[in-house]
Amino acid sequence: MGNSNDKHIRWLEDYCHYCGSQLNSWDVRVSKALGYLKYHCCERCIAKGYGRTLPELRNVMEEYFGMRPCKGI
Ligand SMILES: [Zn+2]
Repeated sequence: MGNSNDKHIRWLEDYCHYCGSQLNSWDVRVSKALGYLKYHCCERCIAKGYGRTLPELRNVMEEYFGMRPCKGI
């Protein structure tokens, strides 16, 4: 908690397992937190997989994991 190295988005050489879009550091953090360890996914596909909208998914991440999305995503 209170670890705020999540302020800056980094784009990674890593692509969503489902839709192939380029992933950023936030997507990967969400993936790892939710147990997508082998294949990382973008937050859109993760949200879809959980039957949630993007804002709902971000709320969940913040409430349960204390993870705050970067501004501007
Ligand atoms: Zn995707």
